[in-house]
Amino acid sequence: MSQQGHPQADTEKLNATMSAIGKKILVLSGKGGVGKSTVAVNLATELSKRGHKVGLLDVDLHGPSVPRMTGLEGQRIGGDGDNFYPLEVSANLKVMSIAFMLENTSQAVIWRGPMKYSVIQQLLANTVWGELDYLVIDAPPGTGDEPLGTAQLVGVNAGAVIVTTPQQVSIGDVRRCITFCNQVMLPIWGVIENMSSVICPHCGQSFDIFKSDGGKKLADELNLPLLGSLPIDPGIVIGADAGLSICESQACPPVKQEMEKIVDNLMAKIHKK
Ligand code: ADP
Repeated sequence: MSQQGHPQADTEKLNATMSAIGKKILVLSGKGGVGKSTVAVNLATELSKRGHKVGLLDVDLHGPSVPRMTGLEGQRIGGDGDNFYPLEVSANLKVMSIAFMLENTSQAVIWRGPMKYSVIQQLLANTVWGELDYLVIDAPPGTGDEPLGTAQLVGVNAGAVIVTTPQQVSIGDVRRCITFCNQVMLPIWGVIENMSSVICPHCGQSFDIFKSDGGKKLADELNLPLLGSLPIDPGIVIGADAGLSICESQACPPVKQEMEKIVDNLMAKIHKK
């Protein structure tokens, strides 16, 4: 992977790659650990299961968790020259992550801003997806240079999904995400509340750990559509560690239904049905 890059050639290649993609869905969060990668993986998997051609791009350079969550951890990609060939989870789902290229993902931790920007640009431009209906991008957390670069590089037909936890303290993070999206003129397709409640693994009952309806109130306050609320379910994390999506995992049926509802709501928003 070139560290300097050739700006002109990269721009042309980037435009060619991006223009073969129907819609680009950037999954953003104000901070790490709220379930952004979980949502990105599950949106991509669910869309692919519905028959769409989907790419899942992990540009969370510091914490690439997509390979583990898709069962591809430890695998390497093939490439020729400047082309990167994504790995296939199924006929409809291809995955690309910086982790497929590095000997050791702790390498990325020492990269400075311009280097990270260059890596993100190359991942976006040089991945050979072919025609895609959707590219789901697991963006770096926060509102700094890396998500900014990603949002600027994806071009048209793109929008954001913001993942948050329901506590009131999260509202500031979500506000910063909204300001960020407005500044880069990225439409916000909705908010997903994660860890909204907890499902007891013994009795299957759901308990609110924060205030009830936190996600709805948050979305109302921010004037954004709430696409859905995912509870904490041990089945999600056990499944993710084994490379299984929510629908393939041991998560409770209502959690699986909620994930499907989230995708229905997102599709309605993107395609304005
Ligand atoms: P982020 O991308 O925001 O850093 P992750 O998606 O990597 O967060 O999630 C962090 C951890 O929490 C992972 O181990 C993931 O499996 C787990 N997790 C995320 N959402 C849930 C949930 N609703 N229930 C149980 N575990 C979850």
